[in-house]
Amino acid sequence: VRVPIVAGNWKMHKTVDEAVAFVNEIKDHLPDPKIQETALAAPTLDLTAMVKAAQGSPLKVAAENCYCKNSGAYTGETSPSMLWDAGIHHVILGHSERRRIFHENDQLINAKVKAALKVGLCPIVCCDETMGRLINGKRVHWVVARIIDDLKDLTPDEVKKVTIAYEPTWAIGTGQSADPEQAEEGCYLIRQTIEDMYSQDLANQMRILYGGSVNVDNIDRLMGSNDIDGVLVGTESLDPQTFLRLVNR
Ligand code: 13P
Repeated sequence: VRVPIVAGNWKMHKTVDEAVAFVNEIKDHLPDPKIQETALAAPTLDLTAMVKAAQGSPLKVAAENCYCKNSGAYTGETSPSMLWDAGIHHVILGHSERRRIFHENDQLINAKVKAALKVGLCPIVCCDETMGRLINGKRVHWVVARIIDDLKDLTPDEVKKVTIAYEPTWAIGTGQSADPEQAEEGCYLIRQTIEDMYSQDLANQMRILYGGSVNVDNIDRLMGSNDIDGVLVGTESLDPQTFLRLVNR
């Protein structure tokens, strides 16, 4: 049985004080993590204070990115081992904003996934997709290639620790979510790719999330789909009461 997960991705929002106030407001109102997990991905500077504030609550604090090396001359980067040391157990990798704005390619994302797993972090790997590809039928090829390249050379035991998020580019931050059928198709395609790469058993264990303009009106239909095990929420995760409404439906 796959435990569903509702995860927020704050992106570049919230100061340390704002982040701590948010955690304090929600932490006593979260579901039993055996029934549904709750996570919040936040800017690096916020993470330590959030972990402290979240202590004893089921909230999982996640990073939004990390580098593929554990130390060295890499100005401005944060290493997987630094995150782990700070009590962070999850990291988003390969978000479409990282790919598009910061030119991250599959090779780098794959290296980051491996480095994260090596120190114990569970990666949330994002798979993007454009409307153009959906319309001209190139979607299958694109999504399959992202999964194959981003998870390249992972052992079955490693891949079990990965969560995948299907996030169509046109649905991110636009208020126009993929409809549940489109979202289910994308997540199903990812699960089939995992089955082809590994096994049906492993594919059935993997958690696959949908992300892109998730809100209180569409979350139930999205999460009700067979292959959608949760959501990654941007804009609607920024207000604590709205986030609680998404979490406690
Ligand atoms: P929005 O919910 O703002 O569309 O952002 C989605 C997203 O990018 C989550 O990672």
